[in-house]
Parts: sequence; structure tokens; C-alpha cells
Amino acid sequence: MREQLLAHPVFKMAADQFERSADFLELSDEVRERCKWPKRLITCTIPVKRDSGETEVYFGYRVQHHLSRGPVKGGLRYHPGVDLGEVAALAMWMNWKCALMGLPFGGGKGGVTCDPRTMSVGELENVTRRFTAEMLPFIGPETDVMAPDMGTNEQTMAWITDVYSTHSGHFVPGIVTGKPVILQGSKGRTRATGHGVAFLASRALQACGIEHESATVVIQGFGNVGSHAARTIASYGVKVIAVSDITGAIHASDGMDVDALVQHVRDTGGVKGFPGSSAICADEMLLLECSVLIPAALERVIHEGNAGDLRCKVLAEGANGPTTPGADAIIEERGDIFLIPDILCNAGGVTVSYFEWVQNLQRFQWSEQEIIAKLDTMLSKAFDRVISFAKRNELPNRVSALSLGIKEVADVKTQRGLYP
Ligand code: NAD
Repeated sequence: MREQLLAHPVFKMAADQFERSADFLELSDEVRERCKWPKRLITCTIPVKRDSGETEVYFGYRVQHHLSRGPVKGGLRYHPGVDLGEVAALAMWMNWKCALMGLPFGGGKGGVTCDPRTMSVGELENVTRRFTAEMLPFIGPETDVMAPDMGTNEQTMAWITDVYSTHSGHFVPGIVTGKPVILQGSKGRTRATGHGVAFLASRALQACGIEHESATVVIQGFGNVGSHAARTIASYGVKVIAVSDITGAIHASDGMDVDALVQHVRDTGGVKGFPGSSAICADEMLLLECSVLIPAALERVIHEGNAGDLRCKVLAEGANGPTTPGADAIIEERGDIFLIPDILCNAGGVTVSYFEWVQNLQRFQWSEQEIIAKLDTMLSKAFDRVISFAKRNELPNRVSALSLGIKEVADVKTQRGLYP
């Protein structure tokens, strides 16, 4: 299994990043091994009747990286590229992210290999209900709490809540986060990740001495994370000059009206053809001159082939794993880009998920204002810790963030010792 995981490019990337921080922390071989490998890798098949009447068998995965610090927490992804190695990498990153943020969770991630764009709502519901049923022995508010990720949303979480609650014989809101507010979801959860990305990008702009009013932003991906990052950063006075999604990339050097763009995406299904913008090649968009570049779609989009040509001042990683280790080396060598690493940059989502879980366990509801204020405080604190640890130890920001998270997990494992 070790070899099988390491043969996957995204897992290999997460493992290489881990090793670099483990070297810096001088972790013993024993603790290193215990921290690196996932506790549970669950694979299942999901047979579902499609609208055509045919039965299709999908593959589903859930990886629980560690349960040493609490239940695992992490998203559920529906995408044609989902496989075990990718899910395991994402679970590992979630582990360090929760530890970095001081949340009482381990990392988890799940996914189903399917293309939600070609499936009806009924088919998606059937996949979700059957996947949840297959996962019943392994999930629960104290063991594994899922949340939305690429291709899933609050409706997906509502279906999971329904299946789990039906089997439990009572309503169990703490089984997932990112639920609709009417099902005791948290106010502010939907925008939390994107808001956090923009909030931290603003902290980085301040650190670079760039005024919001003169700043520009380019965003790859205009789903949950990208669109909410655009909304918050535009509210600070930063101009959104280019955006892309699966339908194409668009550019408007004078800036875009983000609310109108969100409406256009709702009406047409994508950013393509937004009035007042011109089409641009998606790869070239990443190389536009801008203050902030936010990759908010897929992994490994900043690589050795384009890292040397980036013209941003701040790289704010909304997506998980958007930058390869090869690109990291180039960015480090250049020294002119302020990188906000994914496990810090997109931690707003899991932080508000934690608030949601706490509210569910207490049967309590906080206001959106309280949630966002608490979120900004926690993100600010984590940002300051990562930046000062990086400076003190002359580390790149990514190695600093990962090292802080990994050290927390390594200390817990050492303190708990081994059973039996
Ligand atoms: P989403 O499904 O809501 O949106 C994904 C967006 O990416 C869509 O606009 C889609 O069109 C676009 N996209 C897909 N392929 C693309 C391509 N080849 N080029 C350009 N755009 C493309 O997903 P999301 O929840 O916004 O997640 C985006 C990223 O953020 C993922 O890496 C996810 O793991 C990460 N993330 C999400 C959350 C969250 O709370 N949703 C939290 C942390 C991290």
C-alpha cells in the first residue's frame, strides 16, 4: 500500500512536503512513520440506478488520516478525477491544517469518482445516499464529520444528515458540517473558505505594503471558494481583473462587478461570455500581472513550467495542493512572491465547520457577525504564527505552516504512546 500511495502524484507531493518539514523538526523514524500514513483507507462501490434505467457502479473513498486528536474532519468531493491517492493526500493536508488551526480534529477526506455535471439531481441524491449507507460503520459526530468540497454542496450534506439520522432513529446534525442553516448548519459556513482566503490575502497585501485600492486579483475557479473570495476581496476595494472556471477564462482590466458575475454564472452555468469582459486563454490568465493570484480549483496548476513566469505579488492558495514542490523551489529561489500556503489560506472553511460542530453538540446558534469575527481572529492569529515562525527559522511559509501542524500531531502521538 505504501508503494501504491507513493505512486500517485498528488500523494507523493503531500508526502514530499511532509518529509521536508519532518526533516526540519528532526522527527524520529518511529514518530515520522506514525504521522505520515493514514489510519484508515476505505474504498466502496456504489451501485446506482440512473435515470435511463441502467445501473451504474461508482467507486467511493474515505480516508481517515488520524483520529489521535479528535474525529476526522474533511470534505467530500465529486469529480471524475477522484481516486484513492488523491483522497489520501487531501486527508493528510487536512490533518496538518486542523492541527495548525488548533482545532480538535484529525484530517479526513472522501470522494466519489463521478461527473456531477452530467448527472441529474435525483442521480446525485442516490449516489450520496448509497455512499453514506456504505460509510455508516465508519462515520459519526465523534469519529468522522464530512463537509462539502468540489462538486458537493449543502444539499449533499442535507442528504447525508437524513440517511445518518434515519439510521440513528433521531436527528443528528453533528454528522456533517456545511449543512443548510435550516438543518442547524452554521451561519457564515458557505462563505467561510472564500472569505478567509480574501481576508488572509489582505493581510499579505498589508505585509507587502500594497494598498487595497491599487491592488488587483486574478482567480482560477469560481465555485464556492473562488466566488466568495472574489466577493470579500472586492468589498475591500481590490479590483477583480480576471476569473476562470470550467467554461473558460475572462479578463477585464478595469475590474468586474462581482455580484453581476455571480448572477451571470447562476443564469448561464459559467463565467464565459460575461458582458464587459474578453475571453483569455486559461493558462495565460495565471501569468497576468496582478497583486494577488488565487488558485481556487484544482491541484498542481502552478508547476515548474509556469512558476518562473508568474507576475503576482501574493499567491493565495484557495485550492488544496495547487503548487507542486518543483514550483515551490522556483518561488523560493525568486523570493519576490508572498505565498500563503493552502493549509493556512483555505482554513476558514474547516474553522467555521468546527464552529458548526460545536453549535450542533450544544444545540446552540451563533449570529453570522459572531462567526465571522471569531473566524477573522483565529485566521489572523494563525497567519502571525506562521509568518513569525518562518522568519525566526528562515523557512518558506509552506514549510513553516506544515511544521507547526505536524509538530502538534507528533507531540500528541508521542504523549499518547503506543497501544498495546
Ligand atoms: P466548487 O465545485 O464549488 O468549484 C470548483 C470551481 O473550479 C468551479 O468554478 C469549476 O468550474 C472550476 N474548475 C474546475 N476545473 C477547472 C479548470 N480546469 N480550470 C479552471 N476552473 C476549473 O469547489 P470549491 O468548494 O470551490 O473547491 C475548490 C478548491 O478549494 C478545491 O481544491 C477544494 O478542495 C478547496 N477547498 C474547498 C473548501 C470548501 O469549503 N468548499 C475548503 C477548503 C478547500
